[in-house]
Amino acid sequence: MDRGQGRRRTGRPVRPGASPRRTAGRFDAGPNGDLGLYLHVPFCASICNYCNFNRGLLDRELKRRYVAALAAEIARAGDGSAADTIYFGGGTPSLLAPPEVARIVDACREAFAVRPGAEVTLEMNPETVTVDYVSAVRDAGVTRLSIGVQSFDDRELARLGRGHSADGAAGCDDVSLDLMLWLPAQRRGECAASVDRLCALAPDHASLYLLEVYPNAPLRDEMARSGWSQAPDDDAAAMYLDALARTDAAGLGQYEISNVARPGRRSRHNLKYWQDGEWLGFGCGAHSRRGGWRWRNVSETARYVDAVARGETTAQERRTLPSAERLGDALFMGLRLTEGIDLGAIRGRYGVDVMGRYGVRLQSFLDAGLLAADAERLRLSRRGMLLANEVMQAFV
Ligand code: SF4
Repeated sequence: MDRGQGRRRTGRPVRPGASPRRTAGRFDAGPNGDLGLYLHVPFCASICNYCNFNRGLLDRELKRRYVAALAAEIARAGDGSAADTIYFGGGTPSLLAPPEVARIVDACREAFAVRPGAEVTLEMNPETVTVDYVSAVRDAGVTRLSIGVQSFDDRELARLGRGHSADGAAGCDDVSLDLMLWLPAQRRGECAASVDRLCALAPDHASLYLLEVYPNAPLRDEMARSGWSQAPDDDAAAMYLDALARTDAAGLGQYEISNVARPGRRSRHNLKYWQDGEWLGFGCGAHSRRGGWRWRNVSETARYVDAVARGETTAQERRTLPSAERLGDALFMGLRLTEGIDLGAIRGRYGVDVMGRYGVRLQSFLDAGLLAADAERLRLSRRGMLLANEVMQAFV
């Protein structure tokens, strides 16, 4: 699933882990508050035919060694600085046994000053959810579940190669549900019915994604063989807008291009990505951003485990972020939020008057009603969210 790293720069509603500051012992709180801790779990029980995340089939022995490596990497990076979110993303983190979840949460608590009341999210697949499992991971410290339902239609799930059925999904007692729209052979009525089933479950939070079929995804071949097609682009836009109207009516307010929530239930972890925050990612392929630096861990699971065991660094592509790139990221990510870009915060942090620098290029989007601006904020309209990529080009 891997929604917890939120690093995709696209504006489309698709699915969406030794800094130089470590020399003095404790880190100061980052400019945007406490750290988020992302933990990547790269194992899946089966591989979905549309997926291009960093994952592989479950290997129990490798998983055992991986959990030990994760705990060791966290301990090594720990400096006692404050963190207020922990996010298990994958892959399928719910393939971890509850004692493994507890071991990793405890490692975070020993290495960092994890705040009381921290948000601790675990991504789950519906087929791995049982009442006993949920109760055990809650005892292990998990406060929030993010369940990848994707569809409530068994035929649609079968087309995606998903290992669960719609009944399994409907049985979840959940906080956040993921739903994909614009599925192969799905038409507007079926999409609306799926959204209604999601709303009927009254989740606290939901993520709605338009399926993106990657060029090398096995799903692409299967669609060609089976004669399944995605509905025309205009229908995709209508599905998205209709889904948001339905979630609005159900009390789930949109706060980001792909995310809706009841009041007070926004994903605090993902907000760090969208609000120019700082986070450390642990595990294979996890990204980190801290103190003006960005790096990524080695992607391959066994290589990651071996590197940790040998005491070697797992980080690669480690580099400082030039101010222009940090500004670009802040603008791209801020525009994803319904509240938009905080112009005063950008001025304070980067010394840039956004409207002064980009106003001419933004004018046609403002005139077309795709963007709205006032003295404090620049935000996309809902219609503008469908064309976010085009709007974001103004900042390039
Ligand atoms: S469950 Fe499916 S979509 Fe999620 S990471 Fe595994 S293979 Fe990818």
